[in-house]
Amino acid sequence: MPWGFDYLIVGAGFSGLTMAERLTTQAGATCLVVERRNHIGGNAYDRYDDHGVLVHTYGPHYFRTNSPRIREYLSQFTEWHPVDYKILSWTHGAYWPFPINLNTFEQFIGRPSTPEEMSAALDKWKIPVASPSNSEEVIVSQVGRELYEQFFKGYTLKQWRRHPRELDASVCGRIPIRTNRDDRYLTEEFQALPAAGYTRLFERMLAACGDRVKVLLNADYREVLPHVNFQHMIYSGPVDEYFDFSEGRLPYRSLRFEAESFTPEELVPREPVSGKKGFWQPAMQVNYPNDHDYTRIVEVKHATGQLCENSTIVREYPEDFGPGKEAYYPIPAPDSSAIYSRYKAKADAEARTSFIGRLATYKYYNMDQVVGMALAEFEKLWKAGDRPC
Ligand code: FAD
Ligand code: UDP
Repeated sequence: MPWGFDYLIVGAGFSGLTMAERLTTQAGATCLVVERRNHIGGNAYDRYDDHGVLVHTYGPHYFRTNSPRIREYLSQFTEWHPVDYKILSWTHGAYWPFPINLNTFEQFIGRPSTPEEMSAALDKWKIPVASPSNSEEVIVSQVGRELYEQFFKGYTLKQWRRHPRELDASVCGRIPIRTNRDDRYLTEEFQALPAAGYTRLFERMLAACGDRVKVLLNADYREVLPHVNFQHMIYSGPVDEYFDFSEGRLPYRSLRFEAESFTPEELVPREPVSGKKGFWQPAMQVNYPNDHDYTRIVEVKHATGQLCENSTIVREYPEDFGPGKEAYYPIPAPDSSAIYSRYKAKADAEARTSFIGRLATYKYYNMDQVVGMALAEFEKLWKAGDRPC
């Protein structure tokens, strides 16, 4: 006897679980969520490691949003721990405030300065580009070549194995450049982490669904298809995989995470370096644009505010995508957009499947954007009215 559900949801990340929560609690629908990993939460999953430290398993996830609606929606399932996300860049033998701001400029010129002097210097250094069309142009047109080469070029080559000229302007354009002393990494109004972690937030979303939801872990949806009846599919996996790569393979970037944990005794000798008792490095994240094979070291305890004597750092090594690797990043570039546009046409023609989230829409989306997309898709289905909702 096949299982019967109103919806089959592929992927238990932010997009899949937002859909499950809305469809069950607002529309009274039943959902089967199928996830091929052994846990819920997708890339935003976090866990306490063997040393008792709360870590972001798939790289640092700094929640931020400008949307009161998305914040209010998620606030039903979590309290928040406000954070000013601060990072440093290690290059030329020193830590530098990053993103580039007045403090960075002062270190660069070796003396105190003012916003006016910094603006005037940038005006002199920047290379005019009428409308920046790639990641090199977007940076050199704001700060000139020297700062671009110091902070962006090497990091980008390492992260994407592509020249910044071969990436959309939006990639490096994500990083703000400021002439004041605001040294926060992000610009959004609301910046905070779920107080008890992301996984707890996801558990509470599922708890709200009650017995209208079933979650099947360690399963690819294709194995499940012959055993379920459903009316509509919500798909948040890679879009090229859904269509059996019929339009060619979309490029992705993968990562390898290497964690290292420290006891309080091991941290003590580093305290003059870390600047803070119980920490290994001086900031939540240090970027390495020009040294080492990794792009960044994250010590997320700085951001979570966890009171824990041990600490864990995670080094992040970019890797090519291939068999056995996770597709962490779509690659925003003209060649990949051309392939994606063919998949998008096919996806638009699939009446019984909704494609949502970072992989199914092949967009370099943040968590809040993915939640916003799921809320909008729910409303679209709701209004269509020809389904259980
Ligand atoms: P995912 O979280 O990828 O979930 C999709 C799920 O579908 C996965 O769990 C996958 O296993 C499952 N799946 C795929 N195919 C199948 C299949 N065939 N069968 C069953 N299951 C399947 N965003 C921020 O806002 N702030 C940050 O600081 C931030 N940092 C990031 C750092 C890194 C290293 C990465 C990779 C991403 C970061 N993001 C950040 C982006 C964030 O992870 C995404 O926006 C968000 O997690 C996307 O949610 P999703 O549900 O679309 O996809
Ligand atoms: N970037 C860079 N130098 C840095 C940080 C970022 O050149 O020190 C560029 C790089 O191309 C990176 C992009 O800006 O991929 C976006 O950075 P972000 O930190 O937002 O990346 P994510 O957290 O999504 O990996």
